[in-house]
Amino acid sequence: MTPRLINLRDLQFVLYELLEVEALTSRARYVDHSRETFDAAIDTALKIATEQFATHNGEADEHEPQFDGRSVRMIPQVKTAVDAFRRAGFMAAAKDYDSGGMQLPLTVAQACLALFNSANVSTAAYPFLTIANANLIEAFGSEDQKRRYLKALLEGRFMGTMALTEPQAGSSLSDIKTTATPAENGRYLVSGNKIFISAGDHELAENIVHLVLARIRGGPPGVKGISLFIVPKYLVNDDGTQGARNDVATAGLIHKMGYRGTTSTMLNFGEKGRCLGELVGQPHQGLACMFHMMNEARIGVGLGAVMLGYSGYLHALAYARERQQGRSPAGKDPLKPQLRIVEHADVRRMLLAQKVYVEGGLALCLYAARLVDDLYTSDSERTRREAALLLDILTPIVKSWPSQYCLEANSLAIQVHGGYGYTREYPVEQLYRDNRLNAIHEGTHGIQALDLLGRKVGMQDGAALQLLMREIDRTVREARKCESPELRRYGEELAHAMHGLMETTRNLLCAGDKGEIDFALANAALYLEMTGHIVVGWIWLRQALAAVARLADAHGTDGDFYQGKLQACAYFFRWELPKTRHQNDLLNNMDRTCYEMQPSWF
Ligand SMILES: Cc1cc2nc3c(=O)[nH]c(=O)nc-3n(C[C@H](O)[C@H](O)[C@H](O)COP(=O)(O)OP(=O)(O)OC[C@H]3O[C@@H](n4cnc5c(N)ncnc54)[C@H](O)[C@@H]3O)c2cc1C
Repeated sequence: MTPRLINLRDLQFVLYELLEVEALTSRARYVDHSRETFDAAIDTALKIATEQFATHNGEADEHEPQFDGRSVRMIPQVKTAVDAFRRAGFMAAAKDYDSGGMQLPLTVAQACLALFNSANVSTAAYPFLTIANANLIEAFGSEDQKRRYLKALLEGRFMGTMALTEPQAGSSLSDIKTTATPAENGRYLVSGNKIFISAGDHELAENIVHLVLARIRGGPPGVKGISLFIVPKYLVNDDGTQGARNDVATAGLIHKMGYRGTTSTMLNFGEKGRCLGELVGQPHQGLACMFHMMNEARIGVGLGAVMLGYSGYLHALAYARERQQGRSPAGKDPLKPQLRIVEHADVRRMLLAQKVYVEGGLALCLYAARLVDDLYTSDSERTRREAALLLDILTPIVKSWPSQYCLEANSLAIQVHGGYGYTREYPVEQLYRDNRLNAIHEGTHGIQALDLLGRKVGMQDGAALQLLMREIDRTVREARKCESPELRRYGEELAHAMHGLMETTRNLLCAGDKGEIDFALANAALYLEMTGHIVVGWIWLRQALAAVARLADAHGTDGDFYQGKLQACAYFFRWELPKTRHQNDLLNNMDRTCYEMQPSWF
């Protein structure tokens, strides 16, 4: 089966025409870079993703890793692929030259990494978790920890995990029970059980560095008493050489619906009372450290969801262009050849829906990555401050909207394939299963919704939401000056939706201020969905404005590409954005249907 990872023309459009990533090369950090170096990195990623990752995607799904009580075995292609990834330097794509990195802007680095997700999300998880782990140690580790762990992680000699979840503490991290007791040499004895830890055991690297959340004995209860620890599978000596096996045991593997090539482990720390950990950062600041890196991690999850949806869309499109079935309603002559199913309007409806979800999601996630670049590298203090605010409010949306809608794209891709889509002969069913995780891990959909409505929109007197509204308003004003009456109308519709959102937000925050907090937050998931749709409507209008400006000079396939963007924008504004009116009514009327439903009435 031909791997279908992305429409490269779309990726170029988003990077260079929408987000103007080339402009970053005027910043000191990226002065050695150019469009050529960005394209070269993307080409290399595409080649490795196609030749080393996509080639065993189905096999990794069918032959899950196995644990024999001592070690984990998996198909050998996983290691070959991870080795190719690490040799090409993608572990440190966005890192400084001094750390052995490519010093790429995060926007470009994320575009590269995205390709590995659409090729084979479960193999990509091993290096991606390692990158997240290294980011944390770089930000909060001591110089000694960086010397002993960071280099090895960035070279891929060590691999990493994030070990937060416990059986009784998934969404509710304040209920974590794993403990850390001070021991000799400033180290801690760690004791407890973690569950669902991705990449928690394997033989892909010399060592596995677990980043573990645990409570230092005697610390405050709740989230204020949680600290972060490095707990390696093998202890690392002062000179960086490998020491003895640490007391970390794999209690078993969890067998899953998707992401089946990634080991999901139950880990026991300190069964023999000898599990040594090193504190990262300050005591009791563990959750703050984790959340500091959440923006990037959650952009990664959102982008992962996009890419699984994107691959499904490309498979559905190729299938619809080939598969012949039925005739047009107006001409059912059985002597005439059957039509290709793409010629049925209803199939085009399903393809358009997928297109707006995945291309909208891609532009949204890369826009968020561009904000991270601004946050870390802009010369302007104001730009940095505004990027931080926009990221605060957009992060739950960037994580959740693609997890919901690009999964819907996967479902539609199956539908376009008819019965064949439901079989294991075609890749679309695996893409759906793999993507189903994204609304669950890294904070469930419900938890993201509470974060958005319960925290982000009200913080700093609503500064982030107001800034987002000003940004959207800027696009609306641009649309008003546009020659296209359609785009001018979409601008007004977007402005209307945004004003509705502002009013509803004020009412909900007001209810919260009056002490009706449970009631105000009861429909938070609907609020998240509505806000996500308005933000993606904005992203689509921006894409359409960029397309219309170039359409007159475009020829051949480029003309088709821009026309496709305009038609997709039309679909979003006619079919999708209007859904937010009803959602807004439910929210603004503070609908109590779910809130008042009693557990005993089910
Ligand atoms: C394949 C996979 C990989 C994972 N990888 C990792 C990993 O590498 N490291 C790691 O630490 N964890 C990992 N996890 C764990 C994951 O982060 C948790 O499953 C997730 O946080 C949810 O926790 P839970 O499963 O205990 O569900 P629960 O927290 O029990 O949630 C169940 C349901 O209740 C809802 N809910 C819970 N609390 C509230 C609330 N206060 N308000 C409203 N609704 C609520 C949730 O939204 C959800 O719908 C992974 C999970 C899976 C399935």
